[in-house]
Amino acid sequence: MAGGFLGQVNTIFDRAAALTGRDAALLKQIKTCNVVMAVSFPVRRDDGTLIVVDGWRAQHSHHKTPTKGGIRFAADVHDEEVMALAALMSYKCAIVDVPFGGAKGGIRIDASKFSISELERITRRYTFELVRKNFIGPGLDVPAPDYGTSSREMAWIADTYTSLRPGELDGLACVTAKPLAQGGIRGRTQATGRGVYYGTREVCNDAALMKSLGLSTGIAGKRVVVQGLGNVGYYAAKYMAEGGAVLVGLIEREGAISNPDGLDLEAVMKHRKETGSILNFPGATNIAKGLAGLELPCDILVPAALELQITKENAPRIQAKIISEGANGPTTPEADAILHDRGVFVIPDIYVNAGGVTVSYFEWVKNLEHVRFGRMEKRFEETAFGRLVDAMSSATGKKFSDAERQRLSAGAGEEDLVNSGLEETMITAWQAINERRARLGKEVDPRLAAFVLSIDKIAVSYQDLGIFP
Ligand code: NAD
Repeated sequence: MAGGFLGQVNTIFDRAAALTGRDAALLKQIKTCNVVMAVSFPVRRDDGTLIVVDGWRAQHSHHKTPTKGGIRFAADVHDEEVMALAALMSYKCAIVDVPFGGAKGGIRIDASKFSISELERITRRYTFELVRKNFIGPGLDVPAPDYGTSSREMAWIADTYTSLRPGELDGLACVTAKPLAQGGIRGRTQATGRGVYYGTREVCNDAALMKSLGLSTGIAGKRVVVQGLGNVGYYAAKYMAEGGAVLVGLIEREGAISNPDGLDLEAVMKHRKETGSILNFPGATNIAKGLAGLELPCDILVPAALELQITKENAPRIQAKIISEGANGPTTPEADAILHDRGVFVIPDIYVNAGGVTVSYFEWVKNLEHVRFGRMEKRFEETAFGRLVDAMSSATGKKFSDAERQRLSAGAGEEDLVNSGLEETMITAWQAINERRARLGKEVDPRLAAFVLSIDKIAVSYQDLGIFP
């Protein structure tokens, strides 16, 4: 088997491709990363010294444009990693019917070693390089955050792009997950973690599956361990806890903490802010080596930090019955096989963490439409629903309090619509994966079924497009 993250993604692709019965050349076109751009540029540090920073942008597939995918800041990011992540983006977008090809960017820096103004200079210069090479634009390639970046960097990207392309009407759609005031959308920050919650909840609502795993139906009461309390992990943990799950373990860079009776997420976050660590949280047991936290007894494990965390080495010791892959590529194919044999149900990354790109798509649409979702219809709905409530009231004689009337007649605002669209997307996509799995046979795990579904969708797009020239 080819090594490295890219080799691992391609290994899964090959296994799934063999089940599609599609033409070998077409499958090769789908698997191939169409283009990778490498940049190296000088950056002046705050102390006046110069450094050279390396970065990449990979566009895996142009069967739909623009291409879409995050930009990560990481000390060890390299071209193959970015290509692997770009490929996952293509497959992910196809699964959730987001009309984009896959892309990914990376800048090789340890963001924690740079000041904010240095990070801003790095981000703006990288964006300039993307503009110069026609690698960014609302119809070309649209970045988003990933490991080590957030809406702050996206605002710098949007500002740099629109400064370099003055007057471009749709310019703000060049990047997503921007701050609200810069054309962002309500609910994007929470979207990936929320999507992880919806996807996991959907799986837990499958009574037959839960029975086969020896678990009760529903997310309430499930014991959950989360690795990584960044954007994805924090919100996944938050919504799981709000859904009634019990957070029995949390893992960060500095180690892990556990408490079978449950950990209060907000209190842990506060403790980490004050002490710089999740360790020594009152009432919790410390686990010095964070990785060992993955082996805590639990029902659901959510790796939401980095790739390649569950390997053939630790897979035999994982006690979770369900693994919900918040991160991209946290499970190696060897570990996947071990988990499958052990009856652990893995909800694959290309499905379950697709909430971010789904809401990024909504943001892109919002930017192109130049109007906030719900702005036109919210009040209209409220008036119409209000009339219905009044009609109900006079027909039944039931008097509604002002608060009840307000609740019953509320119109949908932007965040309601975003969350509703996200929930619909996650549910529909899981049903499609499940249906495909049922057709392929139960020995096919959800990841393979998801890949088969995705490859088939991309194949149809390529076939419909034909070949140029
Ligand atoms: P982030 O930078 O916001 O958070 C990552 C967190 O993981 C940080 O809190 C970091 O301290 C922690 N971490 C780092 N190394 C760790 C280790 N060895 N053990 C435990 N914790 C560790 O990044 P993010 O945006 O939350 O992304 C996390 C993962 O989710 C990545 O694989 C990313 O590709 C994937 N992802 C992100 C999004 C998104 O919208 N942000 C969407 C889909 C997938």
